[in-house]
Amino acid sequence: KGSLVVVGSGIKTVGHLTQEALAWIKGADKVLYVVTDPVAEGVIQRLNPEKAESLAVFYEEGKLRRETYEKMVERMIECVHAGLRTCAVYYGHPGVFAYPTHTAIRRLRKQGYEAFMLPGISAEDCLFAELGVDPGSPGCQSYEATTFVTAGFVPNPKAVLILWQVGVFGHMDYSRTHYELREIPLFVEYLSRFYSPDHEVCVYESAIFPGCKPRADWVPIRDLTKVQLTPASTLYVPASERPTPDLELCKRLGMAVR
Ligand code: SAM
Repeated sequence: KGSLVVVGSGIKTVGHLTQEALAWIKGADKVLYVVTDPVAEGVIQRLNPEKAESLAVFYEEGKLRRETYEKMVERMIECVHAGLRTCAVYYGHPGVFAYPTHTAIRRLRKQGYEAFMLPGISAEDCLFAELGVDPGSPGCQSYEATTFVTAGFVPNPKAVLILWQVGVFGHMDYSRTHYELREIPLFVEYLSRFYSPDHEVCVYESAIFPGCKPRADWVPIRDLTKVQLTPASTLYVPASERPTPDLELCKRLGMAVR
C-alpha cells in the first residue's frame, strides 16, 4: 500500500538535510520535490536518481499559486494511490507556508493511507540564528505579509514581528523572473500605523549555499520602498516598546518584581 512522508530540505540543503530525511529520500519508491536552487535539486537527484521528480513543473508564469498547489497535491496523492512509498521534499520546513504538504497529508489520512511530516529548518530558524533573535525574549509574532495587511492584523510592538513573503506582497500569482511591487507603499503605510516610520527593520535573506553570508539590510520603515525585495526576502521588525509587567498580576502569581 502506498504512503506519504513529507520532509524538509532546509534552507541551505547541504548541511540542513537531516539524517532521517536523507534515509526517507533514499528509500522511497517515488521522490517528489520542490526546491529553489540547483544544488538542492542535484543533492536530491543523486540520492535517488531513478525516482526523483520535480513538482516545480506545475509553476506557470502568471498562474495563481493556489492552482499550482492543487496540482502538486493531486500528484502526491496519485503516486500514493499507485501503491508507491512516496517521499515529498519541500525546501525549508515542509510544513511552514506550504499548503500542498498539509493538504495532501490530510486528504490521504482521510482515505486511510499512512501520511506524515518530519520537521525541517525554516527560514525563520535561520533568522533566529543569523540575526541573533530569540523568539522567547520578549516574544514573537509571525505572519504572511499580504495576509497581515489584508486581514488587518494588529501587531504588538512589545514583541518581535516577522513578515514572510514581503517580496511578493499583493501577488497571488507566480513569476519566474520578478514581481512588480507597486503595492509596497501600501505595506509601508500599514506598518506605519503601529511603528514610527523611522523604526529600523531588516530585510533578511539567509544564504542558500555553504560559505556564503546572509543578506541583512537594515532600513527605516519609510525606506522599504527603496530597497530590493525578492521572493526570498523575510522582514524582521524588532520590538519598538519594552514590555512592562502587570504588577498586580505578578503579585497574584507570587512573583518578585524589581
Ligand atoms: N517552507 C519555507 C521555510 O520553511 O522557510 C517557506 C516557504 S514560503 C512559500 C517562502 C517565503 O519564505 C519567502 O517569501 C521568504 O519570506 C521565506 N524564505 C524563503 N527562503 C528564504 C531565505 N533564503 N531567507 C529568508 N527567508 C526566506
